[in-house]
Amino acid sequence: ANRSSWASIKGFADNVEIEVAATYGSAGTTTIDTVPDSRGVTINVHYSISLLPQNSYRPRLADDRVGYFVTALKDFSQKVDEDRFVRYVNRWNLEKADGSAPLSPPRKPIVFWIEKTVPFKYRQPIREGIESWNSAFEKAGFSTAIEVRQQPDQTDWDPEDINYNTFRWITAGAGFAMGPSRVNPRTGQILDADIIFDADFLQFWRTEYETFTPQAVVALTGGDPARATDSHGVFEFSTGSRACNHCSLVHGHARETAIAVTSIAAMGDGPLSEVQKEKLVAQGLKLVTMHEVGHTLGLRHNFKGSTMLSLADVNDVNKASQNGASMSVMDYMPANIMPKGKTQGDYYTAKLGPYDYWAIEYGYRQIPAASPESERVELDKIASRSGEPMLAYATDEDTVAGAPDPLSNRFDLGNDPLEFARTRAELVEQLMPLIVERMVSKETGYERVRQAFGVLLSAYGQSMYTASRLVGGLYTTRAHKADANAQAPFRVVEPQRQRDTLTLLEMQMFSEKPFLFSPELYNQLAATKWLHWGMPSINRDDYPVHEVILSWQDRVLSRLLDPLTLERIRDNELKVPADQDAFTSAELLDRLTKSVLSELETVQPGEYTVRKPAVSSLRRNLQRKYVARLGSLAMGSTAAPADCQSIASVQLRNVNARIAVLLANEQVKLDDYSRAHLLETQGRIQKVIDASLELPRL
Ligand SMILES: [Zn+2]
Repeated sequence: ANRSSWASIKGFADNVEIEVAATYGSAGTTTIDTVPDSRGVTINVHYSISLLPQNSYRPRLADDRVGYFVTALKDFSQKVDEDRFVRYVNRWNLEKADGSAPLSPPRKPIVFWIEKTVPFKYRQPIREGIESWNSAFEKAGFSTAIEVRQQPDQTDWDPEDINYNTFRWITAGAGFAMGPSRVNPRTGQILDADIIFDADFLQFWRTEYETFTPQAVVALTGGDPARATDSHGVFEFSTGSRACNHCSLVHGHARETAIAVTSIAAMGDGPLSEVQKEKLVAQGLKLVTMHEVGHTLGLRHNFKGSTMLSLADVNDVNKASQNGASMSVMDYMPANIMPKGKTQGDYYTAKLGPYDYWAIEYGYRQIPAASPESERVELDKIASRSGEPMLAYATDEDTVAGAPDPLSNRFDLGNDPLEFARTRAELVEQLMPLIVERMVSKETGYERVRQAFGVLLSAYGQSMYTASRLVGGLYTTRAHKADANAQAPFRVVEPQRQRDTLTLLEMQMFSEKPFLFSPELYNQLAATKWLHWGMPSINRDDYPVHEVILSWQDRVLSRLLDPLTLERIRDNELKVPADQDAFTSAELLDRLTKSVLSELETVQPGEYTVRKPAVSSLRRNLQRKYVARLGSLAMGSTAAPADCQSIASVQLRNVNARIAVLLANEQVKLDDYSRAHLLETQGRIQKVIDASLELPRL
C-alpha cells in the first residue's frame, strides 16, 4: 500500500475523476510484458464520481418485449400482488422544445464530439453511424435529436467532463469498442456516454487465427454449456442495472473483415487494393459505430436481428434497401459474402432496422401523462406490436450455450441457419484452394495463408455449430398473449428441420470430405516467425491438422450430446401432441451412431493398407470421441436423462456386435490402423458395459 499513489485528480462542474496508481507486489512467478520486473505491478484504478441531477425528468417504465438496459428499484411502498420491483429504461432526458408539435427539435440535443484523435479518413463513416439514429428519433417525434460535432485541435475541455459525450480513439492494443454510460441510479436517466474505439479494430489480421485452440473454439460458439448444466439450468448473471452489458462485437467483426478480405481477394485477381480495403473498413466502421451508439442510447443486443430476411433477399438490392438487411443493428452482423455464382449484396448493412425504430419509439416518444405509471396505456400500444415478425427480440441471456432458441445467434445471417451454414460451406470450399495464390504477396511470409486458413475454417465451424442448435431447439417469442400476431412463448422446431440439420452435419462435419485439403496447402501453413514481447508463442510451427479438425467436430458433438440438449429433446416429446411426428432423443442417438460409425456397414470387401485404410485417421479420431461420449452417457456419469443412459448402452452393444462381425469377415483384410482401432474400441465398449452392469440404475 505504501507504494500506491494518486495518478491524477480532475475536478469538473458536475463530476470528479480520480485515478489511483495501486501498486501490488507478487512472487514474480509470471512474466508480464509491460513491466521491467514482474515482482511489482502498478494498476491504475479509476474512480468516477458525479453529481446527481436535480431535474424534472420523468422515468419511463421498461417492458420485457423491448430491449433496453434497465435500472431496477425496489419500492416497498407499493401495494401490489407481485414483486415490488420498479424497472425503468435507461435513456436520455429528451424533451421537445415545442411540446405540441408532432415533430420538434429537443430542448437539449444529445451531442457527440468526435475527438481530434480520430484519424481524418474515418471521421465521415463515424459521423454517419452516429447520425443514422436521427431517423429513428424523427419517427418518435424529435428532429435532430443527436448532433455530431468535431472537436477542434485547440479546445479547453476534457472528454472526462460528463457534460461532453465523446467518441474516442485509443491505442491500448485491446481491440475493443464500448459504450460506457453513466446513469442516474434512481431514474435510469443517462447522464454521459463515451464510446472508445481501439485502433486495433483496424488490424483484422491476427496471429491468434493461426491456431484455434479448443478454448477459442468454445469461445466462438457461445461458451461452455457445461457451466449451464452444472447449475441445473439456472444461469448465473451478475446483478445490477448494467448486467450483460458486455459487448464483444469488435473481436468477431475483425474476423469477419478478414473473411471478407480473403473472399474478395480470392474471387478477384489477388490481394485487395488500398482503396478496396478502406471501403470495406469504412462500411464496417459505420455499422460498428451504429451498434455502439445504440448501446449509449440505452439499447441492449438483439441477436434475432439478422433473421429478418432470407439470404437471397439480403443480397437482393431492392429488398435490402427497404429496411436494411437486419431488423436491428444491435445484432452482431457477419460480413455478407456469397459464393461465386450467387448475387452479392452489400458486405455490411448500412441502415437501422425496423426493430431499432420501434425500440427508440418506445423509449423516447413523449407521452402526456402525470407519472410513469400513467404512461402505461400508451406504452403498451407500442410494445404490443412485439408479435410482428420484424420486431422480434432476443438478447444475451437468450443466446448463451444451452439457450433454446436456434434463431438467436451471434454472427449468423438470414432466417435459416441451415441455409447460412450451406452457403458458408460452399464459400469455404471455393476459397480454400485459392488462398496460397491470392493471399501471399512478395512482402509477406506464409503466415497470412495460415491466418486465412484459420479464419475460413472457424467461419465454417461456427456456422455448422449455429445450425446444430436447431436440433432439440425451441422457437421463442417475448410477445404477450393479447398482442396481435402473438404465438405461444415456445414452439418445438419442426422435426423435419431437425432431421435436415443432422443430414447437413453428417455431410459437412462428421464426414471427412470437407476437410480433405490438399497436401501442398498443409505444407504452406507456416506460423509467424517473430518471437518477442507482445507476440504469442506458437506451440507448433507446422499445422496441427488432426487436432484442429477434431476440436470443431467434437464441439458440435458436445452440443448434440449435451445433457441439457438431450433433456430438452425428451421434454419436447411431450410438447408435441401424441398423434404428431416428433424428433426424439432415441432417434438422435441412433442417427449419430449410424453416421459416425458408418464404416461398420459400408466397408467393402478387399485388402486395406495403412496408407489406404478402411477407416481414415480423421474418422478414427471422431469415432473415438463419439464412443467416449456414448460411454459417459451409458455409465450415467452425465446429467442426461436415464432414458438416454439406457439408449446409449444399447447403442454401444450394437456397435460392439457390428465390430465383431466386421473383424470376423474374411473378405475384408483390414489394415493395421483400422484393425487396432476397432479392437481398441471393442475393448473400451466392453469395459463400459461391464462397469454399467455393476452400477445401480439411478
Ligand atoms: Zn454490443
